[in-house]
Amino acid sequence: MSILVTGGAGYIGSHTVQALLDGGYNVVVVDNLTTGHIESINQAQVKFYSCDIRDKEMLSRIMREHSVESVIHFAASSLVGESMKDPAKYYDNNVYGTQCLLEAMSSQNVKHIVFSSTAATYGNPKQLPILETEPTMPTNTYGETKLTMERMMRWFEQAYGMTYVALRYFNAAGASENGAIGEDHTPETHLIPLVLQVALNQREHISVFGDDYDTSDGTCIRDYIHVSDLADAHVKALQHLQDGGTSDVFNLGNGNGYSVLEIIEAARVVTGHSIPARMEARREGDPAILIADASKAREQLKWVPQWTDIQQIISSAWKWHQANPKGYANE
Ligand code: UDP
Repeated sequence: MSILVTGGAGYIGSHTVQALLDGGYNVVVVDNLTTGHIESINQAQVKFYSCDIRDKEMLSRIMREHSVESVIHFAASSLVGESMKDPAKYYDNNVYGTQCLLEAMSSQNVKHIVFSSTAATYGNPKQLPILETEPTMPTNTYGETKLTMERMMRWFEQAYGMTYVALRYFNAAGASENGAIGEDHTPETHLIPLVLQVALNQREHISVFGDDYDTSDGTCIRDYIHVSDLADAHVKALQHLQDGGTSDVFNLGNGNGYSVLEIIEAARVVTGHSIPARMEARREGDPAILIADASKAREQLKWVPQWTDIQQIISSAWKWHQANPKGYANE
């Protein structure tokens, strides 16, 4: 029996593959490598297929050949800004891709799926910190497609009996402690890696997207969670389903909010670089504040995040970026 990880060559996917291997699971990865990195996969330990999730036949064959019993589903486009400019790409890759995956799963009688969802499903929340019961009203196409994917799973469960856990994560950051894998996006759009590129003298300044939000310093507030803590939550969610647990949705965050300016300041302390910042216009689709209430995951999945200090999280990312200034292209 194996676990199929879609998008397992991506940032959070590759860290989860590592956590599954550490837990003694057999792992099969499919990734179309449009944004993932083959270098992040240890092919001595993992069976890897370069495969797009929209290829239903190939997915079905892989599930059959490897006796796949559960899926962890990361493969998706995940950039807020891009999703506003090219919504069709997000509906095709994310929504139609998930439909193909779920169809392949039902054809092969695969029983469980853990799904990589997002706090972007909430939009601008009415209450903070955000509970899973908060209404979902996404402010961007990315969040809308992830919510549609979650809902699709609910109807597939009714028809075919497969159970699911959707993990709505807040802002992933950091890198594996052993330094083997980390964050490498092209183009990079995320705050922490961009700030660290300034500290590596790869860019002159960091742009701050909007300082006129209704927050203490006017910049957006986010809840940053270490990628290894996210990976651990996926393994725990899988165990919950394997033990007969019911389908559910869980937030994953630390419960602490940091503004864009606070992140830049923390990175200055970690790196010793002045990291010049320049105020710019708001980025389309960004909610002002996203902070998780993850007590449900703590209580029901027995998930306890290990990385709670923002400077430690940034230090872990900094270690990876210093050792791999060009990301996986170094290798
Ligand atoms: N951000 C910024 N400058 C950048 C990149 C991001 O000010 O160069 C802001 C962005 O507007 C958001 C926060 O940093 O408020 C986190 O953005 P990121 O893209 O890292 O994650 P997201 O919250 O979109 O998932």
